Amino acid sequence: MKGKVWLVGAGPGDPTLLTVKALYCIREADVIVYDRLVSKEILQQAPSSCQMVNVGKLPNFHPIPQDDINETLVNFAQQGYNVVRLKGGDPYVFGRGGEEADALVEHGIEFEVVPGISSAIGGLAYAGIPVTHRDHASSFHVVTGHLKQGKDPLDWSLYSKLDGTLVILMGMSQIENICQQLVDGGKATDTPAAVVRYASRDNQQVVTGTVTDIAQRVQEEGITSPALIVIGGVAQKHATLSFKATCRQISELAQLQLDLA
Ligand code: SAH
Repeated sequence: MKGKVWLVGAGPGDPTLLTVKALYCIREADVIVYDRLVSKEILQQAPSSCQMVNVGKLPNFHPIPQDDINETLVNFAQQGYNVVRLKGGDPYVFGRGGEEADALVEHGIEFEVVPGISSAIGGLAYAGIPVTHRDHASSFHVVTGHLKQGKDPLDWSLYSKLDGTLVILMGMSQIENICQQLVDGGKATDTPAAVVRYASRDNQQVVTGTVTDIAQRVQEEGITSPALIVIGGVAQKHATLSFKATCRQISELAQLQLDLA
């Protein structure tokens, strides 16, 4: 009999942002195929019999080709295993979850998606940045700075015309170029901007500035990927809405008896 695959979001970093459903899936998995950004504490929730497969970047920094990851999922499921494909944030927000689902359908493998908290929204919240705010942004736009090879580059001047919050993932290697194109396209030079690295983790770092100087500030602070770039009025909220997150362990939370009656 064929197994089944669960495409599961692990949330942005703080392990207790995992959903209850994701925790159930992990605790019952035969195989977990996981990415680099999934926290250790989440992986430790797997049963001791579970086979753990790391498909994050290899030690020589070469990513594992997506076709190989798809094949791994298909092969394990065809052998009858229940497979959890554990991905950072939400499985369908970049990170190629859609491509993995396509491969499963193509091979007639049953699957389910367990959404997760995306870094694009929840990660920003941990940095004191509400993705919308009536005084600053009535829409938000989540954009990748890294397109599939062979695709035409994004026309950033179009994004510079939008009033909403711009959240750019995988954009750190291009930050200077992106900000320059936004300004060239008409974005006001004093538009607030922020960069959040390791959002919601213990080692979260935040740098703020404007669309004109954020690239320079990031360089001065030595901030690199993985990070979120935020451009728009909400970025200045970091100064007043930052908070210290309560730190708990999953095992501690999972034992709580919640009485909501
Ligand atoms: N599916 C994920 C995004 C995958 S793409 C999600 O929903 O969050 C990977 C990119 O996401 C990283 O390069 C970075 O830009 C961003 N990212 C993911 N987790 C992050 C975190 N904890 N802090 C900052 N950026 C993060």
